[in-house]
Amino acid sequence: MGFLDELFKKKEKVEDVAANVANKAEKAVKGAADAAKAAAYDGEKVTHELQKADLGELLPGAPKGGKINLAIYWAAACGGCDVSILDVNERILTVGDMANIVMWPVAADGKEKDIAAMEDGEITVSIISGAVRNSENEHMVKLLRQKSKIVVAYGTCACFGGSPALANLVADGKEEILNYVYTKTPTSADFQKTYHKDAPVIPKVSCKVPEGELTLPVLYDTVKTLDQVVDVDYFVPGCPPQQETISQMLKAVADFAYAGVALPPKGTTIGITTKTLCDECPRKKANARITEFLEPYQVNVQDGICLMDQGILCLGPSTIGGCGARCTKAGQPCRGCYGPTADVQEQGASMFTAVASLLPILDDDPICDEEKIVKIVSEIKDPLGYFYAFTLGKALIKKAVKETGGQ
Ligand code: SF4
Ligand code: SF4
Ligand code: SF4
Repeated sequence: MGFLDELFKKKEKVEDVAANVANKAEKAVKGAADAAKAAAYDGEKVTHELQKADLGELLPGAPKGGKINLAIYWAAACGGCDVSILDVNERILTVGDMANIVMWPVAADGKEKDIAAMEDGEITVSIISGAVRNSENEHMVKLLRQKSKIVVAYGTCACFGGSPALANLVADGKEEILNYVYTKTPTSADFQKTYHKDAPVIPKVSCKVPEGELTLPVLYDTVKTLDQVVDVDYFVPGCPPQQETISQMLKAVADFAYAGVALPPKGTTIGITTKTLCDECPRKKANARITEFLEPYQVNVQDGICLMDQGILCLGPSTIGGCGARCTKAGQPCRGCYGPTADVQEQGASMFTAVASLLPILDDDPICDEEKIVKIVSEIKDPLGYFYAFTLGKALIKKAVKETGGQ
């Protein structure tokens, strides 16, 4: 029995008490819900109003038309996105009232064959996290697309490729990756030296055993975003998405399931603002010239002052707002997990431009010789990995390739 089943059992015991509380809160909740609905999906107001999005009653019972079917699936993901869905705390009980969870590999039952046996469109919403990097990922996301009315790309890996897409920088693709992981990393090198001295063993995609053939998914050379493989209806960025963003997504589904409220237009990115992260960051920006790049641990970070002004590389200028500036409020630079602003596709290039504009290159800057500029820029460790940490899958620079003669 999965932990959700346990959770829903406990729910029945507290139902009466909670129902009283819910009734008393009903008027207040309805007022807040009306206000939020009025502002929903309306340009700039979206973030501030929807950040307060509440899923309504804690235990609303099933929708009049019966529970909707909900699938939650992870492709090439770390599991953080699955855990983040539980960030709605006890509101997960509302989700339990609203939906039959037909698949959620980390938390509930529901196998591939169960999904394959469903009618096309029988799943109301599939929430899919992770990028697509092997044959199993591809099969499952295509199957879920076929069986679902609505597909949500949940989390930065699904939306932009996330950290898995950095594998696209390995020019020789999967062969080089497998070889490195299974023979070069210290633990695997030691294992191979001890047990397979003559011929290192690297996992195969199929292997004959007395009982038959065992297979593993085929790793792909190129990691793809979800919408590069299937049609996606909504995007929910974040690594993982923040609680407010998740509430906004679940509220849109709950409004649809309980009250028939129209869903946002297809293609909407849920939980973002129309401005950059800098616009919601409380730190004051003086656009100071950058003369050296420092790591956060090298700086006694001062409150209230922009991290870039303190020499710490922060991707706020090239990142879309929506997370509430979680990292910079805690004294850590933004790494760009909510993705680029609406006006640019290339978050990395946008950040290169932002950095370049702060170098001391103007005539009245005290330092402006080329040698010094090159020295400052060369202090950026792994610029490609830093500036495209989350969005390489969607960037115009999609992949490293090896030049071949005359090609
Ligand atoms: S977006 Fe982040 S939390 Fe979600 S699966 Fe990818 S790496 Fe994990
Ligand atoms: S700390 Fe980062 S997000 Fe905040 S204002 Fe400075 S650059 Fe922008
Ligand atoms: S501050 Fe940047 S890295 Fe941190 S959660 Fe927000 S978008 Fe992501």
